Amino acid sequence: MVVPTRLPLVRRRCHACGSERFRAGGKFRVNANHKLIDVWLLVLCTACGETAKLTVLERVTVRSIRPELLDRLHDNDPGLAAELLQDPFVQRRNRIALDWDDAWRLVTDGSDPLDGEAVEISVRFAARIPVRPVRLIAEGCGLSRAEVERLILDGKIVSAVRLGSRLSGDFTFTLKH
Ligand SMILES: [Zn+2]
Repeated sequence: MVVPTRLPLVRRRCHACGSERFRAGGKFRVNANHKLIDVWLLVLCTACGETAKLTVLERVTVRSIRPELLDRLHDNDPGLAAELLQDPFVQRRNRIALDWDDAWRLVTDGSDPLDGEAVEISVRFAARIPVRPVRLIAEGCGLSRAEVERLILDGKIVSAVRLGSRLSGDFTFTLKH
């Protein structure tokens, strides 16, 4: 299973220094004006520390927001920051993409995939983290990436999905000996 180890970085150009990565500090800004509310997630430039605001809610009536969400915003709930960063609506609205490099790890069940004749192995994703399957298979099976690529070419590793490009959702593959 592919699991996040920290929040992904946000790809966005910094107006102050030109760097292209921000990290979420886990803080929100909530601005209530009469019955309307604006909510931003604050992110900090990884190079210069400049703060930028990602729009989460814009001029929404307070009554239309679930009280549970308001509580989490006021508590600067770190889990909420993770959910919002991965929300396609928030990503589109702010024209951001996520950088998951070094922000995940592979957790295996401990069984030896090189045991037996042919094994079917499932890879699950705890979050939509784009990763090259070759890298996961190499790490999970204790092989080099070149060895995995050769096994794919030789038809010893087969899958219904394209193993050559990045995936961010569950897949299975079969390893034959
Ligand atoms: Zn900067």
